[in-house]
Amino acid sequence: MSIEVRHVSKSFSAFKALDDVSLRINGGELVALLGPSGSGKTTLLRLIAGLETPDDDSRTSVLFHDRDVSEAKVAERRVGFVFQHYALFRHMTVFDNIAFGLRVKPRSERLPADRIQAKVERLLELVQLKQFGNRFPSQLSGGQRQRVALARALAVEPKVLLLDEPFGALDAKVRQDLRQWLRRLHEQMHVTTVLVTHDQEEALEVADRVVVMNHGRIEQDGSPDELFHNAQTQFVMEFLGQVNMFHGRAVSGFATAGPLRVEFPNYRSDEAAPARVYFRPHDLEVRRRPNGDPSLAATIRRINTAGSLGRVSLTTLDGVPVLVEMTLDELRELSLQEDELVHLYPKQAKVFLDGSAVGHEGKLTTPARS
Ligand code: ATP
Repeated sequence: MSIEVRHVSKSFSAFKALDDVSLRINGGELVALLGPSGSGKTTLLRLIAGLETPDDDSRTSVLFHDRDVSEAKVAERRVGFVFQHYALFRHMTVFDNIAFGLRVKPRSERLPADRIQAKVERLLELVQLKQFGNRFPSQLSGGQRQRVALARALAVEPKVLLLDEPFGALDAKVRQDLRQWLRRLHEQMHVTTVLVTHDQEEALEVADRVVVMNHGRIEQDGSPDELFHNAQTQFVMEFLGQVNMFHGRAVSGFATAGPLRVEFPNYRSDEAAPARVYFRPHDLEVRRRPNGDPSLAATIRRINTAGSLGRVSLTTLDGVPVLVEMTLDELRELSLQEDELVHLYPKQAKVFLDGSAVGHEGKLTTPARS
């Protein structure tokens, strides 16, 4: 079932938590709403659920499967919820928690007891808690409890699943496992799902599409790859993934950052404007000896490894901190030393004019060589 919100705003007193947001989520899609605290993610989720009413505006509508549900109550929208601190019924077993929504249905819609039994057993299997039906929530880990919460939400066959930081309270390793688990579950169930998170890794790993929010507006919306490789705003560039940022200048088709000169075809003026030049950590090549091309000289401060990545932290001669990432093979081959002076060659860069006053962004199209 598709979801569409059109021109939705929401104010709390004088504060605008959502500012004219329009968004379409296709049936069966898993979309992450990603943004810093206070950017309006939860408010948008609650509006979709019908738990909040949008500000009065004749252009505003909320559609489920292209049907206007603006006037529909929460129960009529058939959404399933899981929150960060989802309170399971403590005095009920896992089985009874999952069965709850099925048992409280009006008699005319209620399944017979044996069908409820079979359905809950299937759900227990789906969330990999087959042996846990008789336990009470207090006898489960945090991650297991959230899986019960998901099974409970899925039991009533919601048309839409709304997840608000469902793994937010869990430790890093459990979160990591649950993300992959959620992805697999989604591939089996295909329920249209909206996941609120402020964790960019979570959004990029789990979602088909990521909607980046900032100050109550959508900054950019796209596949994880698009957002990571083609950020349209400075905010998205800095929010998604690590970056090295240099203050530079733009002038007639180029931007400069120290000795580097990068193409910036969007800027065509003889008047120099302040710009920001960004290099992703994996787009910087490290050489022990200069090769004649313009480079950034930097001193190695620390070398470490994280999983399959080699990470080198450096400082340029001007004192700007830089992070470089490479494969472990590359790291081994270079046999770098701490305190060593090396040369950095950006393979790719991205440039934005500083601040929003000038109002347009530019993308580097060639390696930063003059
Ligand atoms: P977080 O990750 O911290 O939950 P969020 O992106 O989900 O952030 P929202 O919860 O949507 O943000 O809140 C957006 C803004 O609206 C915040 O500044 C918040 O304080 C404000 N806000 C939300 N609900 C209310 C309310 N009921 N009354 C007043 N202000 C509210």
